[in-house]
Amino acid sequence: MRVLQHRGQESAGIAVHNGGINTIKGMGLAHQALRPEDLRELKGNVGIGHVRYSTVGSSSPENTQPIVMSTKHGDIAVGHNGEIVNADKLRNELKKRGWAFATTSDSEIIIRLLANDISDTDDPVRSIKKVMSVLNGSYSLTLMVDDRVFAVRDPYGFRPLCIGRTGEGYAAASESVVFDTLGGEFIRDVEPGELVELLPGEVKSTKTGLAKGRAHCMFEWVYIARADSCLDGRLVYDVRRKIGRRLAIEQPVDVDVIVPVPDSGRSHSMGYAEQSGIPYSEGLMKNRYVERTFIMPEQTDRSTGVMLKLNPLKSVIKDKRVALVDDSIVRGTTMRKIVQLVRNAGAKEVHVRIGSPPIRSPCYFGIDMKTRDQFAATGRTVDDIAKMLTADSLGYISIDGLVEAIGHNATDLCLGCLNGEYPLPVEGEKVRFQKKLDSFT
Ligand code: SF4
Repeated sequence: MRVLQHRGQESAGIAVHNGGINTIKGMGLAHQALRPEDLRELKGNVGIGHVRYSTVGSSSPENTQPIVMSTKHGDIAVGHNGEIVNADKLRNELKKRGWAFATTSDSEIIIRLLANDISDTDDPVRSIKKVMSVLNGSYSLTLMVDDRVFAVRDPYGFRPLCIGRTGEGYAAASESVVFDTLGGEFIRDVEPGELVELLPGEVKSTKTGLAKGRAHCMFEWVYIARADSCLDGRLVYDVRRKIGRRLAIEQPVDVDVIVPVPDSGRSHSMGYAEQSGIPYSEGLMKNRYVERTFIMPEQTDRSTGVMLKLNPLKSVIKDKRVALVDDSIVRGTTMRKIVQLVRNAGAKEVHVRIGSPPIRSPCYFGIDMKTRDQFAATGRTVDDIAKMLTADSLGYISIDGLVEAIGHNATDLCLGCLNGEYPLPVEGEKVRFQKKLDSFT
């Protein structure tokens, strides 16, 4: 689970089957939440684990995962990555039918629907398909129904999910790097709308018939995933370098040194330096014991986190014209602090180059970017944002440039937070490919 710690740092949990399902969960990083003495007591041959990054429901002990419930046919457990768009509607409908909810997380809706259906049918595959048919949103799930383990990807494939082989048998994970680290072998991505059961000697696939076309989240390649993971056929590291090269072509700048914002801006910066021929140098040292600041739930945590996390190297920066290259700007508060750090270290000029287009619209599918007023790009021109950052200039990659670097068709990606067009209906928002009403006769 520590291999996927970058995907969630608020809480961690593990559930294993040994007659029934037993769980250990706690707040904090995996090694804080899962104490060795508790893990030693946790026995079983199959299990699921989860690290949480909250987008719906607070960062609190009752919302830790996996969530476990008992049914008359045995225990079930779920670990969910993503966000259910119709969660409120489903929750209200179920409450009206007398159901009570123990958490504020949308993931509880999934397990309650599943528990209810399994109690009626005792057919997990049928029940999972039925639950999938009422969920609208993003979900990569690992599920345990008694001692059977399933992995499920939503019909658009927003969040990554893959399967691989380890010495012990088959496993599913959000990112392929898990199999590298365990000395195992990556087999393939789970397809959008696919349900797989991990059996001792095989992976049994069920196509649910729910696949709607692809809408992989572009932000996974830009920022979220580890650079050494391969998502839907594209190595993240390669994509980030290509983004950097394209950024150098689209947004050139005359500077003495390219400085990456560690860690996620590093591969983008290398690409930028390769393409531009400008020297690349690590001008910001990172304290690797501070958590990822973007996925910290509170703004105050994030701001303090930046200062704790980065220290400028004066020998690289002093009296130089510096281009800082980073993956994205969401709120702009982190980048503003970094620009000031670099200026205070004696830079003559500080330019900023960004490996994603401006983020202007909320995400409804599992990334905590919820309201338009939080975005640096809302109501501001690029020059305005540069002023806000106190940078000498600012340049973003274009949407076309980003899509080309990822290497999937634009129609196979979610670009909702960039262009305000979403792959599936979200109340008050525009659906992609939507024609204007007046074009219908
Ligand atoms: S809206 Fe943006 S962050 Fe959210 S899934 Fe789509 S591309 Fe990813």
